Amino acid sequence: MAYKISDECISCGACASGCPVDAISEGDGKYVIDADTCIECGACADTCPVGAPSAD
Ligand code: SF4
Ligand code: SF4
Repeated sequence: MAYKISDECISCGACASGCPVDAISEGDGKYVIDADTCIECGACADTCPVGAPSAD
């Protein structure tokens, strides 16, 4: 399963620049991960200051 970003996201954008496959984009009120593109590397979870991304 791809990673998902919870409502804890504060839209800082740090995860998007660190994603190796550009799967993360700014959405409505939070950032979102494209499930078909995500390779489950976990970098976004390691980068996020509020722990919003998680493996689902
Ligand atoms: Fe990108 Fe890796 Fe996060 Fe998937 S787990 S969205 S590939 S940084
Ligand atoms: Fe949201 Fe965390 Fe990504 Fe920042 S790093 S945009 S808080 S998911």
